[in-house]
Amino acid sequence: MSEVRQSAEAPPRFSPELVQAALAELRVYDSLRQDKLAFAPRDSGHVTMYFCGPTVYNYIHLGNARPFVISLVAKRFFESLGWGVTLVENITDIDDRIIAKGNQDGRSWKDVAEEFSDAYVEDTQRLGLGRPDIEPRATEHIPEILELIGKLVERKHAYPAGGDVYFDVSSFTGYGKLSKQQTGEMRSGARIAPDEDKHDPLDFAVWKGAKPDEPSWDSPWGPGRPGWHIECSAMSLKYLGAGFDIHGGGRDLIFPHHENEVAQSEAALGETFVRFWAHNGMLLTQEEKMSKSLGNIFLLRNALEEYEPEELILYFMSSHYRSPMEFSRELLDEARQQVERLRNQFRTLGDYPGAAEADAPADEATLASLVQHQEAFVREMADDLNTAGALGEIFALTRKVNSALASRSLSQTAAETLRNALAELLYVLGLEAVTRVEFSLPEEIVEMAEERQRRRAARDFAEADRLRDAITERGYEVRDVPGGFKLVPLV
Ligand SMILES: [Zn+2]
Repeated sequence: MSEVRQSAEAPPRFSPELVQAALAELRVYDSLRQDKLAFAPRDSGHVTMYFCGPTVYNYIHLGNARPFVISLVAKRFFESLGWGVTLVENITDIDDRIIAKGNQDGRSWKDVAEEFSDAYVEDTQRLGLGRPDIEPRATEHIPEILELIGKLVERKHAYPAGGDVYFDVSSFTGYGKLSKQQTGEMRSGARIAPDEDKHDPLDFAVWKGAKPDEPSWDSPWGPGRPGWHIECSAMSLKYLGAGFDIHGGGRDLIFPHHENEVAQSEAALGETFVRFWAHNGMLLTQEEKMSKSLGNIFLLRNALEEYEPEELILYFMSSHYRSPMEFSRELLDEARQQVERLRNQFRTLGDYPGAAEADAPADEATLASLVQHQEAFVREMADDLNTAGALGEIFALTRKVNSALASRSLSQTAAETLRNALAELLYVLGLEAVTRVEFSLPEEIVEMAEERQRRRAARDFAEADRLRDAITERGYEVRDVPGGFKLVPLV
C-alpha cells in the first residue's frame, strides 16, 4: 500500500466554542518577566511575531529547525483562533563566519551566503509547514540599519570609535534585564580586545569598520558592515513596529544577542521593544553518541533523507518548546511509530464501513469524548503552546475511537465527524500529512469495478452483481458514489 500526498488544504478555524475555551486560558511565558502571562495581541485580532533565523554559512541542523517549526505551529494555532498573524523570520547573510567560510573555500562571502540561504529555504520548505510571511535579509536592510544607528548616535547611546560604532551600555539603565545579570558582575572579567576601540568592555559594535578584503557599505561613520544584533532590531521594527507581540529564538540567544537587541531598540525608541520574549530549549546531544549512532542526521537535510517531515515535526511537538530536548535516534524512531499509528487511524476511519446494524451504540459516548478532548487540546495549546499535552489529547482520543471501531459500534457519519475533527487538530500541530492517506488499489480490482460500472450502465445487473461479489471475494467493497465508485478494503 502506498500513500498519495495531496496539496495543503486551507487552515481550519476552530468553532466559536473552542475559540472561547482557548481565549479563556491563553497565556504565554515571557522570559523577561519570567512568568506565564495572559496574552492578547497588541493589534486587535492580529499577532506580530519575529523569530531569529539562521546565519547562512552552513546547512541548518535540527537545533535551528526547532524554532522554525515552533514559530509556524504558533502561527497556525493563532490562526485557528481566527486571528491574523505576521511572522517575520530573518536570514543573517553577512557575518564573520560567512566571510571566514568564503576565505576558507576560496570564494566570495556572497556566494557562500547565497548557497546556504537557498539551502535553508529548500530544507525548511520540505517540512511542509509553509513559510514565515516575511524573510528579510540583513544585506537588503542597510538603510534601515543605518537609520537606527543614526538615532542611537544622535541620542548619545552609541559612539563612533576607530571606524566602528559602539553601543554605550552605561547609557541604558536596563542593561542585563533580559539575561538577569548585573552590569557590575558582567564587567569584572570582561576585556577589551586589542583591535577594539570601545570605552567599556560591555559595549558592543553596532557598526564594524571595513577591514581589507571584507565586504562593506558606506555609512556616515565610514565604510563597514552592520553588527549582528542591530540587524534584528532594525528589521523587526521595520516590519512589526515598536512593542510587537512575540520575539522568539533559542535560549542561547538571550545573551548577548537579545539583551543587546532590547538595549539598542529601547534606547532608540524610548519605549518597550517587545511584549513577550519566547525562548525555546536546546537540543541536547551526546557527542560520542552523535558520531557513532546518529551519523550526520543532525543536519536537517540529512534527517529528511531518513525521516518523513511529519516524523520530525511530531518529534518536536512531543516536548514543550521551552524544555531542552534530547536528540537521539530512539526518539526519532518513536516519533515514526506514532506517526504510523495516526496514519492507521485515518485509514481505518476513512474506510470504516459503519455499524453493522442501523443503531450505533457508541456514537453518543465517542462524540462526547471528542468534544472533551478537543477542548482539552485547545486548553493545552493556550497554556504557553503545550504541544506535548495537545498531542497527548489526540492519542487519548484515538484510543477511544479505536475501541469503538473495533466493536463496529460507531456509525459511518460519526466516523466521518471524528476524522474531520482529528484532521483539524493535527493540522494545528503541523501534522496534516498523516491525514492524507489513500490506498493504492490492485489494478485488477479497479478494472473489475470499471467493468461493473459499464454493465450497470448497460442495465446488465446480473453481471454487475457477479462482479461485485468477485470484488468482495478479493477483499474489497465497491460502493457507488455520485459520479462513480469507491473501493474500500474490507477490514
Ligand atoms: Zn536575531
